[in-house]
Amino acid sequence: MEYKRFEDTFAVRLDRGDEILGCLTRLCEQEGILLASVEGIGASRHAVIGLYDVDEHAFHGTELNGPMEITSLLGNVTRKDGKVYLHLHATLCAPDKHAFGGHLNECVIGATAELFVRVLPGEVGRRFDEDLGLNLFRF
Ligand code: ZN
Repeated sequence: MEYKRFEDTFAVRLDRGDEILGCLTRLCEQEGILLASVEGIGASRHAVIGLYDVDEHAFHGTELNGPMEITSLLGNVTRKDGKVYLHLHATLCAPDKHAFGGHLNECVIGATAELFVRVLPGEVGRRFDEDLGLNLFRF
């Protein structure tokens, strides 16, 4: 991972073998980012995406292996109990051009990824909601 700051925005390049969530967590820790939006594109070789079933309070993950285009990566950075909390969603496109999308739990870069992390003013936390089983924005 290499990155450069331009005012309130970080341009981030991830390289082959880098894992997106690990790298973004490190960036946010190193730079003291409390609140930000994330967008990006790239190529993955391994990803775990999924869907949260609110009735079951369970996350159903799917592993995607092999070369795929990250056609869209969107999300945010907040803090929960002082720690970096990432919430990312992605759409990945397989060689047969079918797209898979969902909540992104893990993504290893196959070629490169180009991300922009836009720091926002203020701080938003997270609180666990018992009914939903999710960590919601806390203002
Ligand atoms: Zn999600």
